[in-house]
Amino acid sequence: MSHETPHLRRLPRTDRVLAHPLLGPVRDRLGARMTKELVRTALEAARADLQAGGEPPDEGAVAVRVVATATAQLAARSRRVINATGVVLHTNLGRAPLGDAALAAVAEPGYRSLELDLASGLRGGRGAFAEAALVSLTGADAALVVNNNAAAVLLALGAIAAGRPVIVSRGELVEIGGGFRVPEVIERSGARLVEVGTTNRTRVADFAIALDAHPDAAALLRVHPGNFRQTGFVERPTLHELVALGRDRKVRVVEDLGGGALLPLPGLTGDPLVRDSVAAGADLVTFSTDKILGGPQGGVLVGSSDAVSAARRDPLHRALRLGRLPLVALEATLSQYLTGDLDAVPAVAMVRRTREELEARARAWALGVEDTGAEVVLLMSVAGGGTYAEEKLPSAGVALRTADPDALVSRLRRAPHPVLARIEDGAVVLDARTVLPGEDEWLLGSVRWAVGASSA
Ligand SMILES: *Cc1c(COP(=O)(O)O)cnc(C)c1O
Repeated sequence: MSHETPHLRRLPRTDRVLAHPLLGPVRDRLGARMTKELVRTALEAARADLQAGGEPPDEGAVAVRVVATATAQLAARSRRVINATGVVLHTNLGRAPLGDAALAAVAEPGYRSLELDLASGLRGGRGAFAEAALVSLTGADAALVVNNNAAAVLLALGAIAAGRPVIVSRGELVEIGGGFRVPEVIERSGARLVEVGTTNRTRVADFAIALDAHPDAAALLRVHPGNFRQTGFVERPTLHELVALGRDRKVRVVEDLGGGALLPLPGLTGDPLVRDSVAAGADLVTFSTDKILGGPQGGVLVGSSDAVSAARRDPLHRALRLGRLPLVALEATLSQYLTGDLDAVPAVAMVRRTREELEARARAWALGVEDTGAEVVLLMSVAGGGTYAEEKLPSAGVALRTADPDALVSRLRRAPHPVLARIEDGAVVLDARTVLPGEDEWLLGSVRWAVGASSA
């Protein structure tokens, strides 16, 4: 109809919206180009509203729309948060917090001898120190460092089994989280998945029969099920049995360990140790450096020299290599494992904290925010979201009772220093285990802010 054109003309001009005072702070944080794009998008939306019969907005209304989108985009930027969930290796919070040595190494300005041997001036192996440390710590013949454990599994299978069958128990065709699905990773590596056994029970004889049917098989794969537990009428071959079969039939054995531990830690006795898998004779064992060491994100393959060399030579290796910053942080973390300075690794220090220490800290917190009605409570924390074997550690913290715990949890998340809490028995609980030394004042400030805001 004829009145459409005059309406469209009445949309505010881009430069008028950009000049609106509300957009000054947006431009300061997102820059001129991105702000202009947001204004264009908001004007397009306003045009669509007009065509649907709405009223033309003024500059202010379009600016408000831009601020809303800009706020959402800024909120998507990662921020430091206080982890009061008690989950030491928290998948959504970057798994492990970095220790001082790792942080200092990452923060060093300048260039770095990443692939240069300073003694000879010749090209050196990237990650050579980390690999030597991992060899020493795990007892393996050789090690290779990549971007994460998903990359380590992909590379392991791609390098030794592309185009050939890999035999896996049906009970281990699991999804680990974050989209890591064992059957899909096998397929993408170029290997061919051969499933054996049943969901709950698989025996070594099932693998032997599959090897008869697939004499060209390249590997037997064993997957540590992470956060997935089967109990009851359940059976899976031990790694020793698979290694014996693999040796007999000249087929490699790969174990995707994912999490577990490098050294035994008190309270986490159920964790598989990398050293044990290596000693059992697996040709390749893969794991995450964040899960196993409490280090930066990274993946490791350890095992026999020839299997690790095959992975090193594979063209995929170049695509999956670890970046400079995590490699530098990994070197620092590994040095602490070598020297036994484990309390300097924050995730390890957290796992080692006793209930007595945590209770004392929780008492100080409760005093600090006495007016909020916070009470000291005994808790059980989980070491890792699917990482350490879901083992519970006796812990302590404070509980905040409120009519609407979800609302309080959400306000804590939006506090000036965001706090991640959990709800237990209808109360909001803050677990002292995972709050870093030095974060107490921020935590209490955020609690006061959130409780004040919820009663307002
Ligand atoms: C965690 C895990 C993965 C994925 O490791 P990322 O380091 O997250 O890439 C794969 N397999 C197992 C068994 C795991 O536990």
